[in-house]
Amino acid sequence: MKAVVHTGYHTFPSLKDIEKPTPGPGEVLLKVAGAGACHSDVAIFHEFDEGLNPQMDPEFVLGHETSGWVESVGEGVTGIEQGAAYLIYGPVGCGVCRACTRGQDTYCENASTMAYAGVGLGLNGGMAEYVVAPARNLVPLGDADPVDAAPLADAALTPYHAIKLALPHLNGGGKFALVIGLGGLGLIAVQILKALTGATIIATDMKEEAMAEAEKLGAVTVPGGEGQVERIREITGGQGVDAAFDFVGVGATVTTAMQSAGRQSRVTIVGIGNLSPYEWAFLTTPYEAELVNTYWGTVEELHEVVDMYKAGQITPQVTRYSLDDALEAYQALVDGTISGRAVIVPHGEV
Ligand code: NAD
Ligand code: ZN
Repeated sequence: MKAVVHTGYHTFPSLKDIEKPTPGPGEVLLKVAGAGACHSDVAIFHEFDEGLNPQMDPEFVLGHETSGWVESVGEGVTGIEQGAAYLIYGPVGCGVCRACTRGQDTYCENASTMAYAGVGLGLNGGMAEYVVAPARNLVPLGDADPVDAAPLADAALTPYHAIKLALPHLNGGGKFALVIGLGGLGLIAVQILKALTGATIIATDMKEEAMAEAEKLGAVTVPGGEGQVERIREITGGQGVDAAFDFVGVGATVTTAMQSAGRQSRVTIVGIGNLSPYEWAFLTTPYEAELVNTYWGTVEELHEVVDMYKAGQITPQVTRYSLDDALEAYQALVDGTISGRAVIVPHGEV
């Protein structure tokens, strides 16, 4: 079968012919419906140096944001419906520690001893005709469109987790949330904030069309450049935002988020652009402003995200590509010319 393979650091991925997998005990083989192209893949093949994160060492099939139909099940698997559509919860931990047993494989206590981080992150992922996943990682989609649903597995789950943890800061009238970076994750973050809070959503991106999309979703936009922080603070009546979410995470955006933050606010960095330290100082930081990072979400939260999708509260903006054109999707992601999410559709018409 055809698959998009991570072949080396600082090396663009390759479309290869590999063997169709078979499910082992406790595993399920899925025929891939949709596989989202996430900017984290670009970090892995384009930006990471060897030795930084051995779990991402080549070779493996990319695609950690996948939906598919059950083709067959491995030994001991029950309760999974043949032919039905599921999303794959990508993180795979040891399965038995405290974090994994509450459905939060992202924070597996044994991660340092594991050779992989998840499906499409060390284990073969969904940018292929077929993919294998542990049965416990499958979340049913019912009759929801599985192709448009693929981005839920990461582009929705990751902001959902970050926003849920920030809800105490957005609970009440007259609250303000800031979203920086309006790509795959950021545009869904705006929709989740709209559905879960009454906050005024301020959004920013380098790209005009990304900000126009955010405005359609109900955000107020502020362009980057000179005076950006002043403009954001002005919208908040000078107090600063109650919660900021940075889906870029480079030095400049972390600084913008912190300078826009109000007292007792929460700044969440989701983008993994900043691999060097951030400078912090007592007197220039608003009192009790929390600065945190978050990683993906829990399997239970993925069920909640699917509920929001079915209720029409989340609609991923999807551009479909065939598997033969998957490398073009990654090139567009590297070039910054994708809007919303690119989803690879290996079977049927795109
Ligand atoms: P994307 O390429 O779809 O979107 C990024 C957006 O940010 C684009 O619209 C781009 O124009 C904008 N942007 C880039 N630089 C900017 C700047 N300096 N100021 C304002 N806007 C800027 O990427 P994505 O797939 O949505 O991923 C976003 C980030 O989140 C990436 O760093 C990715 O690796 C990371 N990520 C983190 C997690 C996690 O669990 N922490 C999970 C998934 C993705
Ligand atoms: Zn674990």
